[in-house]
Amino acid sequence: MPPVFRFAPSPNGHLHLGHAYSALLNFDRARETGGRLLLRIEDIDATRCRTEYETAIYEDLAWLGIAWETPVRRQSEHFGEYRAALDRLSALGLVYPAFESRAEIARLIAAREADGPWPRDPDGAPLYPGDARSLSAEERERLIVSGAPYALRLDMAAACGRPAGLTWNELGEGGDGERGIVPARPEAWGDVILARKEIPTSYHLSVVVDDALQGVSEIVRGHDLFYATAVHRLLQVLLGLPAPVYRHHPLIRDEAGRKLSKSSRSTGLRELRAAGVAPAAIRQLVGLG
Ligand code: GLU
Repeated sequence: MPPVFRFAPSPNGHLHLGHAYSALLNFDRARETGGRLLLRIEDIDATRCRTEYETAIYEDLAWLGIAWETPVRRQSEHFGEYRAALDRLSALGLVYPAFESRAEIARLIAAREADGPWPRDPDGAPLYPGDARSLSAEERERLIVSGAPYALRLDMAAACGRPAGLTWNELGEGGDGERGIVPARPEAWGDVILARKEIPTSYHLSVVVDDALQGVSEIVRGHDLFYATAVHRLLQVLLGLPAPVYRHHPLIRDEAGRKLSKSSRSTGLRELRAAGVAPAAIRQLVGLG
């Protein structure tokens, strides 16, 4: 079977050179290997995603000379599939609702930090400090019926008790030069959010469900998602999904060495195109000349 690749942008802004690099790497890998290239629109967050950005993604990728298979999968059309996966994790007793607001979480962390540093995840965010896991079934029910907002969290300690020797095959490189068979440490992320009351899925859950449903065999994406792969591998094992191989690539940075943002004008593909830069020059700019 030919390998399957995907480029999976979120339509919450315009594409920049970093996206161009990732999309071109996927496109080139698919061409080199006789593989297929899929495009997936990661638009689960309706408050941040806009159809005009989605349209712009198609235009910018086509301008770069990238061709992808249709139909394009739009995550917002597949909430039922994510819900089914969530239900399977719930049936394993691995999901619980947590009702703290962001402000309450910040207060809890501040209180814990009075006794010393509170652990942070690989992205630098403090781990969930609450104890909603130990709420009684009646209390959960009462809060849900009262209409309180909540996040559905993975009980990481219970989930990690299941698969032994969790690893992935890294064809690219991690931040510390990790490659080959890499140990996955999902516990570093604490009780991650799998869904919210108002968005019945999350990045982690939908990416894992989609990669499996679409038969993606090699995931080519930025370094910033290297450590998140541990959570993805855990969910794949818990849900009985196949393990793709991963190729994390370095991020394109600005002159000051910062990660590019969707609002930085000097590196936006639209701005570069308007300034007369040709697609071949974009390849040169990201080092794929
Ligand atoms: N949608 C994610 C982003 O735009 C990428 C997800 C992935 O490649 O796993 O950063």
